[in-house]
Amino acid sequence: MIIVIRPHTSEALIEEVIREVVKLGYEAAPIHGATQTIVAAIGDESTHQTLESLDALPQVERVLRVQKRFKLASRESHPADTVIDVDGVKIGGGHFALMAGPCSVESEEQLLSTARQVKACGASILRGGAYKPRTSPYEFQGLGKEGLRLLVAAREETGLKIITEVLSERDVEHVAASADILQIGARNAQNFQLLIECAKSGKPVLLKRGMSERIEEWLLAAEYILAHGNPNVMLCERGIRTFETYTRNTLDLAAVAIAKKESHLPVIVDPSQGCGRADLVTELCKGAVALGADGLLIEVHPNPAEAMSDGQQQVDFDSFARLARGIEPFLKATGRA
Ligand code: PEP
Ligand code: MN
Repeated sequence: MIIVIRPHTSEALIEEVIREVVKLGYEAAPIHGATQTIVAAIGDESTHQTLESLDALPQVERVLRVQKRFKLASRESHPADTVIDVDGVKIGGGHFALMAGPCSVESEEQLLSTARQVKACGASILRGGAYKPRTSPYEFQGLGKEGLRLLVAAREETGLKIITEVLSERDVEHVAASADILQIGARNAQNFQLLIECAKSGKPVLLKRGMSERIEEWLLAAEYILAHGNPNVMLCERGIRTFETYTRNTLDLAAVAIAKKESHLPVIVDPSQGCGRADLVTELCKGAVALGADGLLIEVHPNPAEAMSDGQQQVDFDSFARLARGIEPFLKATGRA
């Protein structure tokens, strides 16, 4: 860290800053300018106490961070792409995963027919919410354990791996007993206790970006899971809240490019929540794949008009088949199968 001392500070007060830096376990290297001194604090910020508190000293103008706040999630600590192996299905490092299925698991017929269709179109992972985070308490809340049972049955029939959302710490154990990947939703993106419980489950985790979460905060949330011993984390961009009303959320493709640069973790794009419009999903998928996203999470329903959640953004079977064909040239162009 760099501590910038106010201009014309006396030697004695500069010495006080140096003593504080040393007390906190860092080596202090002062650089004296004509009117102003800066003190470089040398040491690993991940193992030493932070120096930001020095900002409270009246002679300190600013404390600047040099190292990133996320460590394990950063490319600096781990230059090669992380490849997550979900029971034989690889994600990241050139391995692309198509994850698709209904927003909510509604019935055996709905889930199985969707599973068969998405598999036929090349998906390797089936999505479906059993526990749904709904804005209104009067809306469909998901089938719960029955939904998990149907997901497991769909995996048995099709061989697709399953991803489903875990809403609370209380549910982690039994959701992890059924799911291949735990999804942490946008509304829980910074529920740190939930992140820690999911980390401890040992299952791969797909971490959505919160609706108003900064990229640094998103990576720090991933850091929680990594720091609690689970290296299998995927980041998922699903749109952020902006002033725009044409779309439900604004899919932030720049965040995908930044996450790929800053982190080694696989980055997945969810264009369905990302724009909230079935008619835009295919185009956004193409953009995401062209940017190098490691996977897509897409909502597909046999009859979106009758869906119990998110009907406006789910694509039907024919559209999904066209979508899957439509992204192929973009996968080829970026060196993926
Ligand atoms: C979903 O995937 O259906 C969902 C609720 O996503 P998000 O948490 O991104 O809103
Ligand atoms: Mn949804």
